[in-house]
Amino acid sequence: MKILETINLTKTYGKGETVVNALNSANISVEKGEFVAIIGPSGSGKSTMLHLLGGLERPSKGTVKIEGEDIYELSENKLAQYRRKKIGFIFQQYNLIPVLTVRENIEMPLMLDKAIIDKTYIDELIEFLRLTKRQKHLPNQLSGGQQQRVAIARALAAKPAIILADEPTGNLDTKTTQEVISLLRESIKKYNQTLIMITHNDKVAQNADRIISIVDGNIKLLETNK
Ligand code: ADP
Ligand code: ADP
Repeated sequence: MKILETINLTKTYGKGETVVNALNSANISVEKGEFVAIIGPSGSGKSTMLHLLGGLERPSKGTVKIEGEDIYELSENKLAQYRRKKIGFIFQQYNLIPVLTVRENIEMPLMLDKAIIDKTYIDELIEFLRLTKRQKHLPNQLSGGQQQRVAIARALAAKPAIILADEPTGNLDTKTTQEVISLLRESIKKYNQTLIMITHNDKVAQNADRIISIVDGNIKLLETNK
Protein backbone atom coordinates (compact mmCIF):
# COMPACT_ATOMS: atom_id res chain seq x y z
CA MET A 1 0.00 0.00 0.00
CA LYS A 2 1.30 3.42 -0.93
CA ILE A 3 1.61 5.68 2.11
CA LEU A 4 3.44 8.69 0.71
CA GLU A 5 4.04 10.25 -2.65
CA THR A 6 5.48 13.47 -3.96
CA ILE A 7 4.22 15.13 -7.10
CA ASN A 8 6.68 17.42 -8.90
CA LEU A 9 7.95 18.47 -5.50
CA THR A 10 10.02 21.62 -5.94
CA LYS A 11 11.73 24.03 -3.57
CA THR A 12 13.50 27.21 -4.55
CA TYR A 13 15.22 29.47 -2.05
CA GLY A 14 15.95 33.14 -2.66
CA LYS A 15 15.47 34.92 -5.96
CA GLY A 16 17.32 36.70 -8.75
CA GLU A 17 21.07 36.18 -8.55
CA THR A 18 20.92 34.25 -5.29
CA VAL A 19 18.28 31.74 -6.34
CA VAL A 20 18.93 28.14 -5.28
CA ASN A 21 16.98 25.26 -6.78
CA ALA A 22 17.18 23.02 -3.74
CA LEU A 23 14.78 20.40 -5.11
CA ASN A 24 13.64 20.02 -8.72
CA SER A 25 10.35 18.37 -9.45
CA ALA A 26 10.89 15.24 -7.39
CA ASN A 27 8.49 12.33 -7.85
CA ILE A 28 8.81 9.53 -5.36
CA SER A 29 6.45 6.98 -3.93
CA VAL A 30 6.90 5.10 -0.67
CA GLU A 31 5.08 1.96 0.45
CA LYS A 32 3.81 1.40 3.97
CA GLY A 33 6.42 -0.49 5.98
CA GLU A 34 9.29 0.51 3.73
CA PHE A 35 12.69 1.74 4.94
CA VAL A 36 14.00 4.25 2.42
CA ALA A 37 17.45 5.81 2.65
CA ILE A 38 18.17 9.20 1.07
CA ILE A 39 21.79 9.73 0.10
CA GLY A 40 23.71 12.41 -1.79
CA PRO A 41 26.47 14.99 -1.38
CA SER A 42 26.25 17.86 1.08
CA GLY A 43 23.94 20.61 -0.18
CA SER A 44 22.21 18.32 -2.67
CA GLY A 45 18.71 18.84 -1.25
CA LYS A 46 18.27 15.92 1.15
CA SER A 47 17.18 17.94 4.17
CA THR A 48 14.94 20.07 1.99
CA MET A 49 13.23 16.89 0.76
CA LEU A 50 12.79 15.58 4.30
CA HIS A 51 11.41 18.90 5.58
CA LEU A 52 8.92 19.01 2.71
CA LEU A 53 7.87 15.39 3.31
CA GLY A 54 7.20 16.25 6.95
CA GLY A 55 5.36 19.52 6.40
CA LEU A 56 8.10 21.53 8.09
CA GLU A 57 8.26 23.95 5.18
CA ARG A 58 6.07 24.60 2.18
CA PRO A 59 7.07 23.63 -1.36
CA SER A 60 7.52 26.27 -4.08
CA LYS A 61 5.70 23.95 -6.49
CA GLY A 62 4.21 20.49 -6.39
CA THR A 63 2.99 18.68 -3.33
CA VAL A 64 3.16 15.76 -0.91
CA LYS A 65 0.37 13.27 -0.42
CA ILE A 66 0.23 11.14 2.69
CA GLU A 67 -2.34 8.35 2.70
CA GLY A 68 -3.81 10.05 -0.36
CA GLU A 69 -4.26 13.40 1.38
CA ASP A 70 -2.57 16.50 -0.03
CA ILE A 71 -0.91 17.84 3.13
CA TYR A 72 -0.30 21.28 1.62
CA GLU A 73 -4.00 21.83 1.12
CA LEU A 74 -4.32 21.87 4.92
CA SER A 75 -4.29 25.15 6.85
CA GLU A 76 -1.18 25.89 8.97
CA ASN A 77 -3.02 24.75 12.10
CA LYS A 78 -4.30 21.55 10.59
CA LEU A 79 -0.90 20.81 9.09
CA ALA A 80 0.77 21.24 12.48
CA GLN A 81 -1.78 18.88 14.06
CA TYR A 82 -1.36 16.40 11.26
CA ARG A 83 2.43 16.48 11.64
CA ARG A 84 2.30 15.83 15.38
CA LYS A 85 -0.04 12.86 14.92
CA LYS A 86 1.36 11.21 11.83
CA ILE A 87 5.05 11.97 11.73
CA GLY A 88 7.93 11.30 14.10
CA PHE A 89 11.11 13.29 13.55
CA ILE A 90 14.60 12.23 14.54
CA PHE A 91 17.61 14.49 14.02
CA GLN A 92 21.36 14.21 14.36
CA GLN A 93 21.16 16.49 17.41
CA TYR A 94 19.11 14.72 20.05
CA ASN A 95 17.36 17.96 21.11
CA LEU A 96 16.47 16.59 24.53
CA ILE A 97 15.35 18.98 27.26
CA PRO A 98 18.21 18.97 29.79
CA VAL A 99 16.10 19.58 32.91
CA LEU A 100 13.62 16.76 32.15
CA THR A 101 14.20 13.08 32.85
CA VAL A 102 14.34 10.46 30.11
CA ARG A 103 10.73 9.52 30.70
CA GLU A 104 9.57 13.15 30.81
CA ASN A 105 11.40 13.85 27.56
CA ILE A 106 9.64 10.92 25.90
CA GLU A 107 6.22 12.01 27.16
CA MET A 108 6.80 15.72 26.38
CA PRO A 109 5.22 15.85 22.90
CA LEU A 110 2.11 14.05 24.19
CA MET A 111 1.84 16.48 27.10
CA LEU A 112 2.16 19.46 24.76
CA ASP A 113 -0.58 17.95 22.65
CA LYS A 114 -2.71 17.33 25.75
CA ALA A 115 -2.96 13.76 24.50
CA ILE A 116 -3.78 10.90 26.84
CA ILE A 117 -0.55 9.23 27.88
CA ASP A 118 -0.73 5.48 27.43
CA LYS A 119 1.59 4.47 30.30
CA THR A 120 1.70 0.85 29.21
CA TYR A 121 2.78 1.81 25.73
CA ILE A 122 5.41 4.25 27.04
CA ASP A 123 6.74 1.49 29.34
CA GLU A 124 6.89 -0.84 26.37
CA LEU A 125 8.75 1.75 24.29
CA ILE A 126 11.21 2.43 27.09
CA GLU A 127 11.87 -1.25 27.47
CA PHE A 128 12.11 -1.82 23.74
CA LEU A 129 14.73 0.93 23.51
CA ARG A 130 16.51 -0.52 26.54
CA LEU A 131 16.08 2.59 28.67
CA THR A 132 14.22 1.04 31.62
CA LYS A 133 17.06 1.62 34.08
CA ARG A 134 17.60 5.09 32.70
CA GLN A 135 14.12 6.56 32.80
CA LYS A 136 14.76 8.80 35.81
CA HIS A 137 18.12 10.03 34.54
CA LEU A 138 18.73 13.40 32.95
CA PRO A 139 20.04 13.53 29.36
CA ASN A 140 23.56 14.61 30.42
CA GLN A 141 23.88 11.42 32.44
CA LEU A 142 23.56 9.33 29.28
CA SER A 143 25.90 8.28 26.51
CA GLY A 144 25.29 9.52 22.97
CA GLY A 145 23.68 6.26 21.91
CA GLN A 146 21.37 6.32 24.89
CA GLN A 147 20.39 9.93 24.20
CA GLN A 148 19.55 9.05 20.62
CA ARG A 149 17.47 6.11 21.84
CA VAL A 150 15.53 8.57 24.02
CA ALA A 151 15.01 10.78 20.95
CA ILE A 152 13.75 7.72 19.05
CA ALA A 153 11.35 6.79 21.85
CA ARG A 154 10.09 10.40 21.88
CA ALA A 155 9.55 10.25 18.11
CA LEU A 156 7.59 7.00 18.50
CA ALA A 157 5.51 8.14 21.49
CA ALA A 158 2.58 9.38 19.41
CA LYS A 159 2.59 6.16 17.31
CA PRO A 160 3.33 7.99 14.04
CA ALA A 161 2.77 6.28 10.71
CA ILE A 162 5.94 7.76 9.26
CA ILE A 163 9.34 8.36 10.81
CA LEU A 164 11.56 10.95 9.17
CA ALA A 165 15.17 10.82 10.29
CA ASP A 166 17.87 13.31 9.29
CA GLU A 167 21.28 11.71 9.78
CA PRO A 168 20.29 10.10 13.10
CA THR A 169 23.57 8.25 13.47
CA GLY A 170 25.78 11.19 12.47
CA ASN A 171 27.19 11.59 15.98
CA LEU A 172 27.47 7.92 16.85
CA ASP A 173 30.30 5.39 16.61
CA THR A 174 30.06 2.33 14.38
CA LYS A 175 28.77 -0.05 17.02
CA THR A 176 26.14 2.37 18.34
CA THR A 177 25.12 3.23 14.78
CA GLN A 178 24.36 -0.42 14.07
CA GLU A 179 22.42 -0.71 17.30
CA VAL A 180 20.33 2.40 16.58
CA ILE A 181 19.61 1.27 13.02
CA SER A 182 18.56 -2.20 14.08
CA LEU A 183 16.28 -0.72 16.76
CA LEU A 184 14.68 1.53 14.17
CA ARG A 185 14.27 -1.42 11.84
CA GLU A 186 12.66 -3.53 14.56
CA SER A 187 10.45 -0.62 15.53
CA ILE A 188 9.01 -0.10 12.04
CA LYS A 189 8.31 -3.80 11.82
CA LYS A 190 6.69 -3.99 15.25
CA TYR A 191 4.51 -0.91 14.79
CA ASN A 192 4.03 -1.20 11.02
CA GLN A 193 5.68 2.14 10.32
CA THR A 194 7.50 3.65 7.40
CA LEU A 195 11.03 5.01 7.79
CA ILE A 196 12.66 7.60 5.57
CA MET A 197 16.21 8.37 6.57
CA ILE A 198 18.97 10.64 5.33
CA THR A 199 22.38 9.13 5.78
CA HIS A 200 25.98 9.66 4.71
CA ASN A 201 26.86 6.21 5.90
CA ASP A 202 26.98 3.62 3.09
CA LYS A 203 26.56 0.72 5.51
CA VAL A 204 23.40 2.30 6.89
CA ALA A 205 22.04 2.92 3.39
CA GLN A 206 22.71 -0.70 2.46
CA ASN A 207 20.35 -1.67 5.30
CA ALA A 208 17.44 0.11 3.64
CA ASP A 209 14.88 -1.51 1.33
CA ARG A 210 15.49 1.25 -1.18
CA ILE A 211 17.96 4.05 -1.75
CA ILE A 212 17.07 7.43 -3.23
CA SER A 213 20.07 9.41 -4.40
CA ILE A 214 19.82 13.19 -4.82
CA VAL A 215 22.39 15.27 -6.69
CA ASP A 216 21.98 19.04 -7.15
CA GLY A 217 18.29 18.82 -6.28
CA ASN A 218 17.60 16.07 -8.82
CA ILE A 219 16.71 12.53 -7.94
CA LYS A 220 19.42 10.52 -9.59
CA LEU A 221 18.65 6.95 -8.87
CA LEU A 222 16.23 4.74 -7.07
CA GLU A 223 18.08 1.63 -6.12
CA THR A 224 16.37 -1.40 -4.68
CA ASN A 225 18.18 -3.53 -2.17
CA LYS A 226 15.47 -6.05 -1.40
P1 ADP B 1 21.56 18.60 2.09
O1 ADP B 1 20.60 18.25 3.16
O2 ADP B 1 21.63 17.61 1.00
O3 ADP B 1 22.92 18.96 2.62
P2 ADP B 1 19.89 20.98 1.83
O4 ADP B 1 18.56 20.45 1.51
O5 ADP B 1 20.16 21.41 3.24
O6 ADP B 1 21.00 19.93 1.37
O7 ADP B 1 20.21 22.22 0.90
C1 ADP B 1 19.99 22.20 -0.52
C2 ADP B 1 20.37 23.55 -1.09
O8 ADP B 1 19.45 24.52 -0.63
C3 ADP B 1 21.75 24.02 -0.66
O9 ADP B 1 22.34 24.70 -1.74
C4 ADP B 1 21.44 24.96 0.48
O10 ADP B 1 22.44 25.93 0.60
C5 ADP B 1 20.12 25.56 0.07
N1 ADP B 1 19.29 25.95 1.22
C6 ADP B 1 18.80 25.13 2.18
N2 ADP B 1 18.06 25.82 3.05
C7 ADP B 1 18.08 27.11 2.67
C8 ADP B 1 17.50 28.32 3.15
N3 ADP B 1 16.72 28.34 4.23
N4 ADP B 1 17.74 29.46 2.46
C9 ADP B 1 18.51 29.46 1.37
N5 ADP B 1 19.08 28.36 0.84
C10 ADP B 1 18.88 27.20 1.48
P1 ADP C 1 24.52 0.85 26.16
O1 ADP C 1 25.49 -0.32 26.34
O2 ADP C 1 23.38 0.84 27.11
O3 ADP C 1 24.16 1.09 24.76
P2 ADP C 1 26.79 2.64 26.11
O4 ADP C 1 27.52 1.57 25.40
O5 ADP C 1 26.62 3.94 25.44
O6 ADP C 1 25.33 2.17 26.57
O7 ADP C 1 27.47 2.89 27.53
C1 ADP C 1 28.13 1.81 28.25
C2 ADP C 1 27.73 1.88 29.72
O8 ADP C 1 28.18 3.09 30.33
C3 ADP C 1 26.24 1.80 29.91
O9 ADP C 1 25.93 0.91 30.96
C4 ADP C 1 25.86 3.21 30.27
O10 ADP C 1 24.76 3.19 31.15
C5 ADP C 1 27.09 3.79 30.90
N1 ADP C 1 27.28 5.22 30.60
C6 ADP C 1 27.63 5.74 29.41
N2 ADP C 1 27.76 7.07 29.47
C7 ADP C 1 27.45 7.43 30.74
C8 ADP C 1 27.37 8.68 31.45
N3 ADP C 1 27.64 9.85 30.87
N4 ADP C 1 27.01 8.64 32.74
C9 ADP C 1 26.73 7.48 33.35
N5 ADP C 1 26.79 6.28 32.74
C10 ADP C 1 27.15 6.24 31.47
